[in-house]
Amino acid sequence: MTLGSVVEFFRNLPPKQCSCCGKEVREMHDCYTHECEKCETENLK
Ligand SMILES: [Zn+2]
Repeated sequence: MTLGSVVEFFRNLPPKQCSCCGKEVREMHDCYTHECEKCETENLK
């Protein structure tokens, strides 16, 4: 797979949603998280 097609693959994915509050999770965030930054931070407490 070329780098170009990998970029296209991720571009075509639907936006991820936080499994906690349903807010859209930005892809720049950790790929493995299913929660938004806010919920993730609160879960660390
Ligand atoms: Zn959230």
